[in-house]
Amino acid sequence: MTAEQRTPAEVLDSVFGYSSFRGQQEEIIEHLCTGGDAVVLMPTGGGKSLCYQIPALVRPGTGVVISPLIALMEDQVVALEALGVKAAYLNSSLSPEEAHEVQARFRSGALDLLYLAPERLVQERTLRLLEQTEVSLFAIDEAHCVSQWGHDFRTDYLGLSVLHERFPTVPRVALTATAAPAAHDELTRRLAMGEARHFVSSFDRPNIQYRIAEKTSPRRQLVELIKDEHPGEAGIVYCLSRKSTEQFADYLCEQGIDAMAYHAGLPQEERSARQARFLREDGVVMVATIAFGMGIDKPDVRFVAHVDLPKSVEGYYQETGRAGRDGLPATAWMVYGLGDVVAQRRLISQSEGSPQHRQNLSRHLDSMLALCESLTCRRQQILQYFGEESGPCGNCDTCLHPPQAWDATVAVQMLLSAIIRLERERGQRFGTGQIIDVLRGKNNPRSDESDHKSLSVWGIGADLSEAQWRSVFRQTTARGWTVPVGEYGVFMVDASADPVLRGEVRVELAKPKRQTKASSASSGSVRKYHLTEDQEEIFNRLRAWRKTTAADSGVPAYVVFPDAALMHIAIAQPQSLAALRKVSGVGDKKLEAYGTEVVEIVTGADVG
Ligand code: ADP
Ligand code: ZN
Repeated sequence: MTAEQRTPAEVLDSVFGYSSFRGQQEEIIEHLCTGGDAVVLMPTGGGKSLCYQIPALVRPGTGVVISPLIALMEDQVVALEALGVKAAYLNSSLSPEEAHEVQARFRSGALDLLYLAPERLVQERTLRLLEQTEVSLFAIDEAHCVSQWGHDFRTDYLGLSVLHERFPTVPRVALTATAAPAAHDELTRRLAMGEARHFVSSFDRPNIQYRIAEKTSPRRQLVELIKDEHPGEAGIVYCLSRKSTEQFADYLCEQGIDAMAYHAGLPQEERSARQARFLREDGVVMVATIAFGMGIDKPDVRFVAHVDLPKSVEGYYQETGRAGRDGLPATAWMVYGLGDVVAQRRLISQSEGSPQHRQNLSRHLDSMLALCESLTCRRQQILQYFGEESGPCGNCDTCLHPPQAWDATVAVQMLLSAIIRLERERGQRFGTGQIIDVLRGKNNPRSDESDHKSLSVWGIGADLSEAQWRSVFRQTTARGWTVPVGEYGVFMVDASADPVLRGEVRVELAKPKRQTKASSASSGSVRKYHLTEDQEEIFNRLRAWRKTTAADSGVPAYVVFPDAALMHIAIAQPQSLAALRKVSGVGDKKLEAYGTEVVEIVTGADVG
């Protein structure tokens, strides 16, 4: 039987080693195979690649994939080759001879898939090349890049409507993990996909555990997270500034954690080298600004940590979405405090652009803060933000350890009054420290100097601890009732707080909470996968074998086998090649390349 005659289900099994389709994959593939156009909105890790790779293998001709990141095409091609798929890419990293060879292979019809950068595709000579042979479909990956609404806009994507004009009979599929309806509308219009069928999946990522804790000492909290829950595992730590990526990375290294910094200030070669190391090796922690991450296809990132507050829920969800693409348990963890709120508000007030623009930024930040201060399920809130209704998830910190609410109406009134009195009666504005000292009646040189003791608010809040007051302060600032002004972190009261001062609204706040751990017993992912001791031992041996095998052949470890496949092998413990072939993630080519060694490891046979 030739490749052209296989059904999608056969390709899924023989090439990818999977026994069933996920979510809407089957429908999408069917639709493309029969020549239809499709727009696919699916979360990261949902399995978008198969949606175009399988039709490209089933339909006659070569599938052309438009992908925005040159650096990642190579990894995708390497992974496909390891599955026995004939794939190649054309981009500016190739020498003229290499490019020539790829073009020749394409012309002769030898390729299943060809990856192209958008700027290359729209060139007349590329379009002519594509006209010289049969194209089975066009896949436009990261299709939200055509949308000016989003933050990944690429001018070159605007030229992609040419595909429809030049190749009206070739099916097109546009794919993105961006959930925002505005981006969806815009990409549909700009790519002329009005006639296409739209497949919109749920954006839930049930395997990711969302947790947001109060920032006390972020470096220590981060080390605790990594050592207790993700030792030796790959993760991404997001920081706001270049400097703090360096500082956090240094600190992690001092603590014996394999970490590197990544930001746009590093020379290009250094960035590429670090990214390659992160992708290729097991268990590297990347401490990065948001310059890092788009198109990172690494399936086994086990945690994403935010040590600074993201600017929007969209950004937060996209960044955390880089964890757990393989569907195995992963953690999205964040610490945040009053300082973050102040810093973000200041950035907005100083930002360039129209008042309208600043208002937009504020709105984004407010939604992010509402998520941080939420007393109910985080996932429910996130999904609601993207227009999806759901129940409490049972796998976020507020579901696992419901925060205790307390009636903070009086405390908030005291805080607001203290700020107002200091301003009205002394003409002074202060930062949190002095305001809290006044509330608690704690003497200091500044109170003496300005005779704060004679204020009516002096010591009225002595019942609450300093930590409790900080928590109240953070929450009133998150709600916009107290506003940082100027450069020195001093506060004033906003008009929106009037109803609170007049006692017209009751204020419920969360009690301050320490860092919450996942579940007490979990240490490292193996526990979380619920492996028995015996399975765990095999899993670890397979990981060690994978490490040397990957290094020997110069490919990322997950290209040999992703964690999910190793875990399935450790559970099934196949005693023969035939049994191994039945395990999820083991296709024909991998069986041929590694089958004997893997069975030997599982059965404990003497390899020598
Ligand atoms: P996306 O591009 O949507 O982020 P990928 O295409 O990278 O997601 O798929 C995520 C992971 O899920 C990959 O490791 C992929 O091999 C795996 N996967 C995809 N489809 C299936 C399936 N039907 N059965 C099992 N695993 C799958
Ligand atoms: Zn929840």
